[in-house]
This record gives sequence, structure tokens and C-alpha cells, in this order.
Amino acid sequence: MKVLRGQAVVGGIGIGKARFLRRGKRLSPPKIIKGEEAEQIIRLERAIEKTRKELEELKAHIEETLGKEHALILDAQLLILQDKKLLDELAERILKNLDSAERAIKNLIEKYHGIFSQVEDYHIREKVHDIEDILRRIEKNLGEEAREENWDGSVVVAKNIFPSETAHIISRGKPEAFVLEFGGETYHAVILARAYGIPTVVGIENVETEIREGEEVVVNGDEGIVIVSPSRFQISNYVELKKSLQEERARLNELLLEPNETLDGEKFSLFVNIEFPAEAELISREVVEGIGLFRSEYLLLMNQRVPPEEEQYEIYTALSEKFKWVIIRLFDLGAEKKIADLPFHEEENPAMGERGIRYLFSHRDLLYPQVRAILRASAHRKNIKLMAPMVTNIKEIKNLLMVVEDVKGQLRMEKKPFHQDLPVGVMVEVPSLALMADRVSKIVDFLSIGTNDLTQYIFAADRANERVSPLCNPLDPAFLKLLRFTIKKAQDQGKEIAVCGEMASRPIHALSLLGLGLREFSVSPAMLPVIKRVLSSVEAQVIRKKINFALRLSDGQELEEYLRGEIEKIYPEIYRWIRRICHEKNRKTLGI
Ligand code: PEP
Ligand code: MG
Repeated sequence: MKVLRGQAVVGGIGIGKARFLRRGKRLSPPKIIKGEEAEQIIRLERAIEKTRKELEELKAHIEETLGKEHALILDAQLLILQDKKLLDELAERILKNLDSAERAIKNLIEKYHGIFSQVEDYHIREKVHDIEDILRRIEKNLGEEAREENWDGSVVVAKNIFPSETAHIISRGKPEAFVLEFGGETYHAVILARAYGIPTVVGIENVETEIREGEEVVVNGDEGIVIVSPSRFQISNYVELKKSLQEERARLNELLLEPNETLDGEKFSLFVNIEFPAEAELISREVVEGIGLFRSEYLLLMNQRVPPEEEQYEIYTALSEKFKWVIIRLFDLGAEKKIADLPFHEEENPAMGERGIRYLFSHRDLLYPQVRAILRASAHRKNIKLMAPMVTNIKEIKNLLMVVEDVKGQLRMEKKPFHQDLPVGVMVEVPSLALMADRVSKIVDFLSIGTNDLTQYIFAADRANERVSPLCNPLDPAFLKLLRFTIKKAQDQGKEIAVCGEMASRPIHALSLLGLGLREFSVSPAMLPVIKRVLSSVEAQVIRKKINFALRLSDGQELEEYLRGEIEKIYPEIYRWIRRICHEKNRKTLGI
């Protein structure tokens, strides 16, 4: 038995066998050797057959749920699948170039992109996405055996983990826990783990040598402890603890239907952040105001391909049918969110590089179809909002608004319906934008503060680097002052402003936001009932006074200690409850 200590980032207990992440297969599909051609062609034929069946099933489902006209797109795709020339070309690449089936597909996609990018007509140029979509489906089905790994019950052990890998794992079963060497509170894998309530510990040095694959591991995500090869006695204790924690969480859900109101009658709104459309299935529409942040880039990260406009349109429409409001954030790609099939420059400093809206402006073939899909989906219930990530200045907002107008013009010409007044908003994640909040608020419909990035840029500390990420303390007075300024400027202009960073999902932090005047919170789904209970158990005016005083203090630790002390004095019961539900008694890190 050995005990490893790290940073506790997602609470709860996980018990299972350690499993390491294998990676890299897809980035560069291999060549084959002579004699393997027939095997590759058989694989290809099987994958094509499987794709045909999938498309037919999808078509039947769409016809049944949305009507015949929506299923036409799939007819077009089925036709491409029957195109002999396309399939002959794949076979020829295998026979002549000795490409593996995956490599033949990758090269063919590149060839089509080359040809279609020369075409002037936008609509014809767009067709390449349909062909690519089919080829990607075939590719996916080629790798099905490898990919159908099930992570249920495993403890995932890795040095670092990309958002796409986390998404991939979570979509194939629920791991017991994550144990990582790198990362911090707002590392993307951690955000996902929190959304799904998967206990996570980061900052374990040499994790891949300290733990061996297949070893039994207990992960205590509340205390940042990992026990390798625990005794039977330890396991049975932890099994008991895990059960009682789960029961307490389940009881909390009953509270969700009560009104969102503080003890002194201030109303507040609760939204959730989601990464996958499937997550929406787990959230009941009655208990939230809507989706406050759909991290749409996970559509790409999940399947390692760019979903064509039509597919995006269907996904966005389905979300809008389920919720009162849906805020779709444009693809936030770049930095650690990349897929092999899109071009990204090598950057010295990717977190400050071409990411978010910057990347989209230089890759309009991604931006336009997404804006088209959002606008078209907004026609049905007029409850979709479009939000841009990583905006730095007013000029970028104006450029985005021009793109939206441009797309509206296209859709008018095509006689396709859309919501004329689609609300367009920005994430406030870059300090320069926060400092311009008054002018920003004049030209956008809403703002949402991304505290995960905003802290890393304010404190110049990489949120994904466990050595410096604790510097990104949202309770530092410097940060709270910037938030107070931003919230006030937006509210003065009568614009809605929310916080969708992880800060809103942590009880003491959410209370601070309430004290700063915030009334819209977009939180991690697993934390929804906790935040609801905390906010409805206090008087907004009392918290406001405490925060105003706290802002005079000089550092984050002092401020947090003061706030905790005051909350404990005024609301002892809720304070004890926060400590219990978040199991923070022994947490080494500050905050909950
Ligand atoms: C943020 O930066 O706070 C945010 C919500 O965006 P993401 O975590 O996806 O970068
Ligand atoms: Mg961000």
C-alpha cells in the first residue's frame, strides 16, 4: 500500500483498477506492407456497409421525429456512399500506394479539400463537407473495435489529458476517477470531470511510474489522496463512505424545484454549462433557466471531425427544443483544444495565441457554417443566443456582428428562416475586454464572464500548469474588483451579465459573486443543487456588505478567511453544510 498526495479538484470517492491512456494512433495513419492489401479492402468494405446501415437508421429516425423534408440531407449522403468512383479511388490508394484504409481516407479528404477550395461558388465549395462527413463516418467505423473501449469503473491515470481525450472517455462509460500529473481547478479535463461528478486528483508527480497499470486504486477527490493497492479494510471503509456521500447528493436534488430567491427576496437565475448534447438529457428543463454555455467545440473534439452545417443545425435545434434558453458558444479552438484535421500553427505561447474568435476569423470555413447553423436553428423557438469566446476588443465584436449580418443576407437570399434579432453576446475572458465593459455593453446583447481564462490572464498564470495555477485565485481582491467593475458596467447599460466560469460552481465563490451584484450563474450540472441551496440560504444585502468590506483586504487568502469567518458567524448552519457536502474539512487547497 502507498499513499500519493496531490491537489483535490473534484470531490468524491473513486475505487477501481488503474488504466493508462494510450494515444497517438489517429494522428498519422500508417502505410501497410505488401500482402496486407486484401485485408485492408475487406475492412473498408465492412466499414462502408456499417456506415450505410447507420445512415439508413438515422434517416428513419429523422423522418419520424422531424419529418421527411429534414431527412433529404441523408439521401444526399447515401448517394455519395454509393458513388463507385469515390470507393474505387480508396481501393486504388490501398492497392497502389500501400495506404492503410485510414490513410487512404485521410489522403482522399485532403485531395478533395484541395480541389474544392479552388471553386468560387460557395455552395459547391460547401459540398466538400458532405463528402468529408461520409469519409469520416467510414473512418470512424474502421476504428470501431479499438474505440469501443469501455472506461466504466476504471481509474484513468495519465500525465496530462486533452479535452478531446476526456470527452472520448466520458462518452464511453463513466470512469471511477481521474488521477493526473498536470492540471488545476479549471483545466478542461477537470471541468468535464466535475460536470459528470467524477472524483479527480491532479498534481501527482511521476504518476505513470508511481502507479502501475491494473493496480487497485482508491481516489479520495476531497482530500487529494490516492491510495495505491489499499488493504481490504481500507477498501470497505471507502465503499461505505462513497455510498453515504452519494445518498446525501441525491437528497439535494429534491430542492431544485423551489424558487430561485435569496432570503431577502432577491431573485437569481441558474443556468448550466454543457459540453456534449447528450449531457442535456440528464438535466430537466424545469430546474434551470437554460444552457448558459454550450462549449460547442466538443462537437469537434468528440469525433475528431468538423460537423457539417446540417448536423450542427440539428443539434442546436434539438437543444433549443428542450430548454427555455440556449447560449451556444462559437467553437473555442486553439491552445489545447485541437483536432488533427484542422491546421494549427506551432505557437510558442498557445494560451495567448490564435484561439477562440481569433482562430475563427482566420478560418472562415469553420465560422460561417456554424453561424449559419445557429441562425437557422434560432428560427424555431427564438430562444438561441450566440456567444463569442476569447474576444479582445471592440473591433472584433464589430467584425463578428458583420459576419452575422452577412450570414443573415445569405439566408434571406436562400429563403431560409432565421431569428432576425438573434441575441449576440461575448465572453469576457480577456482583461482588455473587461476594462471596456461599458462600451462593450452598448454593442452586444449580453455578456458572460469566463473566470477560468480571465483569472489566468489577470494573474499571468497558466490555468493548466499545476505549479502556478493556484495563483489564479478568483477570491483575490484584484480579481473581485475587476468583476465588480464589469458586472456594474453591464448592468448600468441594462445588459444581462452572467458568470459561466468554474467560480460560479464553488459555494463561497458564488456567494462572493452574489455580493458583487451578480444575479445570473451558469454552473457545472453536478453543482447545480449545491449552488442553489447556498444562494437561497443567505440575504443578498448582508453578503454585499461583507464583500464591500472584504475588498479592502490585501490578498486572496486573507479575503477568503474573512469571508468564511463571517459566513460561519451569520449562517452557521449553511456554513457547516457547505463544509460537509463539499467534504472540505481536510482539503489542502484553498476554496471549495
Ligand atoms: C472560462 O474561460 O471561464 C470559460 C467558461 O471557458 P472555458 O473554460 O471553456 O475556457
Ligand atoms: Mg475560456
